[in-house]
Amino acid sequence: MDSIDILKRAFRRYYFDKFDTKLDRIKEREFGYATFDNRVIRHISFNDKNELRALLVREIPADVYASNAYYTNPEAEIELKNWLAADLIFDIDIKDLALPCMKDHQFSICINCKDISNEKICLKCRSNTKEVNIPCNNCIEEGKHQVFKILEMLNELGANKISVYFSGNNGFHIHVNDEELSYLNSEARRDIADYIKGIGIIPDIFGMGRKKNIDHIKDALNSEKGWKGRIARELLSRMDRNRLISSLRKKSYENFNNELRDITKRLGVTIDTVVTIDTHRIFRLENTLSSKSGLAKIKIDDVSQFNPYEDAVFIDDEPTKVHIHYAPKLLIKGNSFGPYKDEIVSLPLYAAVYLICKGLASEPKVLN
Ligand SMILES: [Zn+2]
Ligand SMILES: [Zn+2]
Repeated sequence: MDSIDILKRAFRRYYFDKFDTKLDRIKEREFGYATFDNRVIRHISFNDKNELRALLVREIPADVYASNAYYTNPEAEIELKNWLAADLIFDIDIKDLALPCMKDHQFSICINCKDISNEKICLKCRSNTKEVNIPCNNCIEEGKHQVFKILEMLNELGANKISVYFSGNNGFHIHVNDEELSYLNSEARRDIADYIKGIGIIPDIFGMGRKKNIDHIKDALNSEKGWKGRIARELLSRMDRNRLISSLRKKSYENFNNELRDITKRLGVTIDTVVTIDTHRIFRLENTLSSKSGLAKIKIDDVSQFNPYEDAVFIDDEPTKVHIHYAPKLLIKGNSFGPYKDEIVSLPLYAAVYLICKGLASEPKVLN
């Protein structure tokens, strides 16, 4: 990565002055980190948060991870760690929502000549490009909408001790610290992920099996809870009850199945199942900085009010000169920056770091 000195200075000051964590059972977790020269170190452990903090201040990692799992020997290789349990985790990536606004703020920058395009290989110099995404308000609001849906469903499943985090870049992480759910194996976690995505909801549960059961259909339409309730509300929002029942009477299994698939796709939550079923994952640690943005992964208390460009910015505002190759207009910490194109500008450190992390700026070259 370009401009490592600026990033390290910013990250060092953050870890030195501001880092703290409420992470529980630190002793039983595996930690890992990535360095700014792209090495990944895993299988480390700490006795307490002071030891963890000492490493962060000493190494200034680009990214820091902790296991969702608890082990007897977190430092050992996987087979010898002795898995005890693991928090249930969910990853909502805004990019996966495929929103129409994406085309307005996703582009590629050539790692060599800095040309802006939508190409994987630069048409001008044939070098690789880096994909850049700067989530807009609409993206963030849509991400929050997914968070509210997942909270409702976790509630239906009886989950306790749920925390919502901003991921540090492009999404949200949900951590469930509920002991009862912590012993679930991957298969059981997949069932939960499927429920949250709305996978496996078939016409039969609505009385709309190959052989229709009108009483069952009427009952299902009275449902309030769970997927039945969600589907009933959706169907009843389209037409009144009597018309709906007569329309369901006539509807074929296949047609209703297709209709259900559309509804569950829309009302389900877009999560990365791979993350949820992994009981040995190391996952970005709370209150650490993401090298993809310079923003912090932080716990969110009030999801509806959350703004990452305000609430996840912890780097200070020391004026810093950067060569900006390209930047759209940005609003960070209430200050508006840009647009910029191939110019040297003095920015507050937090904005400079954001653009460097996105690959859009670098330390100005000193001419001798
Ligand atoms: Zn190029
Ligand atoms: Zn957007």
